[in-house]
Amino acid sequence: MERQIDFSRDRHMLCGRCDQRWVVDLDWIDRWEQGQESCPGCGATCEHEDSPRVTVDPDEPALDDDQVARLAWYHTSTHPDWPARQFDPAAGLTALTRSRMGGEETVAEWVAYQRAKALHVGTYEAAVHNMLRRIHDQADHASQFYLYRVRLKPSVVVRDGWLVDPSNFVGDVTLDAVCPPGVDVARYLNYHEDPGGLSLALGQDAIISVQRVAVPLADAGDDDWVRSAVAALGDAPEVVAPATKRRSLFPLPPPSPRIRAGQELMTTLAGRLPVNLRDQFTWGAAFDDEDDPARWARRTSGLLELIVHPGAALAALDGEEPRPV
Ligand SMILES: [Zn+2]
Repeated sequence: MERQIDFSRDRHMLCGRCDQRWVVDLDWIDRWEQGQESCPGCGATCEHEDSPRVTVDPDEPALDDDQVARLAWYHTSTHPDWPARQFDPAAGLTALTRSRMGGEETVAEWVAYQRAKALHVGTYEAAVHNMLRRIHDQADHASQFYLYRVRLKPSVVVRDGWLVDPSNFVGDVTLDAVCPPGVDVARYLNYHEDPGGLSLALGQDAIISVQRVAVPLADAGDDDWVRSAVAALGDAPEVVAPATKRRSLFPLPPPSPRIRAGQELMTTLAGRLPVNLRDQFTWGAAFDDEDDPARWARRTSGLLELIVHPGAALAALDGEEPRPV
């Protein structure tokens, strides 16, 4: 069962000082983060301790234990076979890395920790937001991503209530830290991605099957925008940085005309997004002199489509055979 996908929906706030609850839009949260709004109950701003934060919408369908396994859940990953049954996190470690980590015993402990980590699934919005964050963090700037739709076993046992986001910023939490024996799935309030949404920490055994599509979808973007972007980048002279050795990293050379053209294109496109995604989108997908203009424009437009027209991604998933896990 699909929930309505809406990246711009209003959010519920809860003040930790005065227990005031109220509903805001994303622009309010943006102003709040800049110190321009305050709690209507006690006047606390974002700089106060225990100041208001997003909280779970009381009408959230995943609050109903019986609905958790019926809902569609999502995940984005650069792994083409997530979640991998035969997962060997040490497979890529060289002998040198193993010795630098402290030897085989330490490597074995690290492997055990990696295998004990919970999987995370969430709303479609959270999965796309997670991908944007990873693209923005640059390590995955050019990586191929996959969007997974996850079906849970109808028999899963859901932990009572919900937790406050238990993971660190990269999502590391061990399964037994959040799911005591006999429990398969723990709900948690997500602060980082689709803020205020409920995500799940779970083990692989809670999943029946997944469907997968590569994202952004091929040929999903706005062709008119792609054509005009390629033309704008093509008109901007390509300036190759001189190969002389600079004595200092600073000052940085000014951006090339093509990079400036790319920045203008991004600013226009990002204006179509909800305010809380604009920075990650603008800087994560920014044009680089090494990018091929046509490939960059299609990818960027395809990323935008995942947010403004999510129905296309859902339809593509519908066409994929579920893979048993
Ligand atoms: Zn308050």
